[in-house]
Amino acid sequence: MKKSTICVQGGYTPGNGEARVLPITQSTTFKYDTSEEMGKLFDLEAEGYFYTRLANPTCDAVAKKICDLEGGVAATLTSSGQAATLYAVTNICEAGDHVVCAAKVYGGTSNLLNVTLKRFGISCTLVDQDLSEEELETYFRPETKAVFGETIANPAGSVLDIEKFARLAHKHGCPLIVDNTFATPINCTPFTFGADIVTHSTTKYMDGHAMAVGGCVVDSGNFDWMAHEDRYPGLTTPDESYHGIVYAEKFGKCGYIQKIVAQLTRDMGACQSPMNAFLTNVGLETLHLRMARHCENAQKVAHYLKNHEKVAWVEYAGLEGDKYYDLARKYLPNGVCGVLSFGPKGGREGAMRFTNALKMIAIVTHVADARTCVLHPASHTHRQLNEQQLVEAGVLPELIRLSVGIEDVEDILADLEQALQAV
Ligand SMILES: *Cc1c(COP(=O)(O)O)cnc(C)c1O
Repeated sequence: MKKSTICVQGGYTPGNGEARVLPITQSTTFKYDTSEEMGKLFDLEAEGYFYTRLANPTCDAVAKKICDLEGGVAATLTSSGQAATLYAVTNICEAGDHVVCAAKVYGGTSNLLNVTLKRFGISCTLVDQDLSEEELETYFRPETKAVFGETIANPAGSVLDIEKFARLAHKHGCPLIVDNTFATPINCTPFTFGADIVTHSTTKYMDGHAMAVGGCVVDSGNFDWMAHEDRYPGLTTPDESYHGIVYAEKFGKCGYIQKIVAQLTRDMGACQSPMNAFLTNVGLETLHLRMARHCENAQKVAHYLKNHEKVAWVEYAGLEGDKYYDLARKYLPNGVCGVLSFGPKGGREGAMRFTNALKMIAIVTHVADARTCVLHPASHTHRQLNEQQLVEAGVLPELIRLSVGIEDVEDILADLEQALQAV
């Protein structure tokens, strides 16, 4: 099926007389007739549900839809995008291991890798994703076990050269993990460019209505763990907590996701709730329509801002002349996303006047939902930094992050225009 059809119909096919709409299985537990049947589930010898922390029919259907959209072989939902990143990395990295990560990734991701996972003994090197292959190569070490980047970085807007990163990762015996949150599988499927694992914060465009926090990890099934047996013992040697099964052997291409569910979700517990999975699925049913509209509106808004006398600069990979325009043409030919950044004239003061004058467009700590919204990092997410530190962090004092929604673009432009007059 084509992506639009998967959005609408994927993941759940009712049997005769069953609910047409994906049911919310709001039950923590599941009943069995015999003790033996339940025992097999605990041995991972049979498939079935026994406890919602490990698996739930509503969550499974939504994971399958996202898996099919990405063209993967297996997927699991998580409680948030952060949990998806945590699982994707710690499923294959342990104390002593190292991760190479693009420096412009989401702030939560770089905190997780550089602060929290560092305390757990996993080290990380943040790299400039625009360096040449030769330069990037120097950051790899024998203990490097994963490479991480974002298709479109939040909030920097940089587009990742996925093929370049996949080549580098594979040359060093590592899988490439790509956070595909901003592009969504509608605009880019990283597996087709060599990425091995994809993560999502479904909280953003997939939900699309700012209702449910959630995440997802999808595996392409392409990384051959057994070919790197000594580097990934978690997948290639017996798991004593499951009677000695070897994930990459027993589950083949699905071993990586099976291990996340059987070990990480079991022990750390960041599972998705069936209710949130249901809400995410309602969002997914219109993802293809909304992404097209987000991109169309953002493209018009970017052009408008670019030509505005009160605007100093605009960054949007869909704009001709943008630093990432060529990469966007290659990886995101159907559209980039709805998020762009720009600087009104007048520095920090100008940006504050602008945001305070907005009427329809709201100031919120969120991006990528149906309603157009803004954030002024210097006054909000990065307000603890002084002017000098802001520049060092790549967040100019006047930077406005604008998440263009799916309203009528004329109304978005009208609100921007009247607010820019205050600058
Ligand atoms: C929001 C976001 C995350 C974190 O997701 P949560 O659902 O908020 O935990 C990770 N990556 C990207 C690119 C994001 O935008």
